[in-house]
Amino acid sequence: MLPQVIIIGRPNVGKSTLFNRLVGKRLALVDDQPGVTRDRRIGEAHLLGLDFAIVDTAGWEDDDPESLPGRMRAQTEAALVGARVALFVIDARAGLTPLDEEIARWLRSSKVPVILVANKAEGRAGEQGILESYALGLGDPIALSAEHGEGMGDLFEALLPHFAREEADDYEAEPEWDELTGPLKLAIVGRPNAGKSTLINRMLGQDRLLTGPEAGITRDSIAVDWEWTDPKTDEVRHVRLIDTAGMRKKARVTEKLERLAVADARHAIDFAEVVVLLLDATQGLEHQDLKIASMVLEEGRALMIAINKWDVAEGPSALFNGIRAALDDGLAQVRGVPLIAVSARTGKGVDQLLSAAFELREAWSKRVSTGALNRWFDQALEANPPPAPGGKRIKLRYITQAKTRPPGFVLFGTRLDLLPESYRRYLINGIRRELGFDAVPIRLNLRSAK
Ligand code: GDP
Ligand code: GDP
Repeated sequence: MLPQVIIIGRPNVGKSTLFNRLVGKRLALVDDQPGVTRDRRIGEAHLLGLDFAIVDTAGWEDDDPESLPGRMRAQTEAALVGARVALFVIDARAGLTPLDEEIARWLRSSKVPVILVANKAEGRAGEQGILESYALGLGDPIALSAEHGEGMGDLFEALLPHFAREEADDYEAEPEWDELTGPLKLAIVGRPNAGKSTLINRMLGQDRLLTGPEAGITRDSIAVDWEWTDPKTDEVRHVRLIDTAGMRKKARVTEKLERLAVADARHAIDFAEVVVLLLDATQGLEHQDLKIASMVLEEGRALMIAINKWDVAEGPSALFNGIRAALDDGLAQVRGVPLIAVSARTGKGVDQLLSAAFELREAWSKRVSTGALNRWFDQALEANPPPAPGGKRIKLRYITQAKTRPPGFVLFGTRLDLLPESYRRYLINGIRRELGFDAVPIRLNLRSAK
């Protein structure tokens, strides 16, 4: 028997749309038991690591809108019996209505845990409704777009504490191909004169003019789509290059150039999946480079470093090793960020840079199965058990990957507020080392399990 999750909410908030998204192409059954609970559609839902039965209550109200609240109340109460958790859906675009508030009152008095779902939250039109919904007293809303499939990772995270580890365990990773077949969104950032424009022109072919700006890109950046042929495989791969430096040449430069490098990086981060920080071999790694690198990682983007002007580098191997060591020291957020020597002038290393960028995007988009993750987790706890502050052991139950791009993990347990930062680091480093997330920024959230 699968755990049951029930979708509740007033008409037109998107219950059926959410139901269909969770059930997908699997067949939905109609539960035609006589009595109050007629017309319940039940489907087998699959959401990342979780399988459950999902019950849709839409359609109850069709025949007699006049007596809606009374009928809905009977239906809702009947449906809640035996449910593991209820998804209470509101329409974030429409904002709260008196009926939403009434349903919230019933739900607050029921014993079934409730997850508040603010649907139709794609774009910005839902922001007001999301804020309003805190007033329902049902905790933080999950912002969702059932129609566009946004926020499903957050819904997954909110559902997880209501499932036992065994119920989430047999999930096998499914590669998210759509995220890997689109053009690689690549940005090149760095201090003035590092060679960004030269490198971009080298990639595109010297004579190619930069065009733009395109829709969706701010006036300060230019996006160029081009095709790169991987010389090793002859495969043609699509790259969308975000050029912030090209604009700089045209812009009237009134700010200090150094500050502009940071501003450019900020724009690039907004659009890019992978950000290349370009260094100048004749200058080495400076404090500001580390600042830009940290910013990229804090925003959760995949970062790589290229040392340009390799054709004129002095003492190249000492230089390379020195920069490697300084990066490992200066960037605690990742381990072994890809470091590649290039020359925009001669073209050396440019293909290597691009193939590393595609690889890095793959790691950044990767999902590890809950099973594999917990096999590692059990062994990590055994090797180094969590501490027992005040003689009471912190209990860590299980871990799951809730997000990709960048990878985000959720750890369930009790007394997690007492978990020392050093232990959290131990786990993060283990995930990096053992599960192949070395150069990618990862997040670990703690959730108290019931
Ligand atoms: P129900 O009555 O609660 O089952 O609502 P439906 O699922 O039938 O959806 C009602 C309407 O809202 C339909 O026109 C849907 O296309 C629309 N809708 C559902 N989800 C979303 C969403 O995430 N965003 C937007 N903009 N519209 C949605
Ligand atoms: P940007 O400000 O980062 O866009 O830098 P530019 O592309 O304008 O390059 C700054 C200077 O460095 C120019 O004089 C380039 O010719 C030079 N440069 C760029 N790449 C290389 C390279 O690989 N080797 C050498 N020797 N010089 C380079």
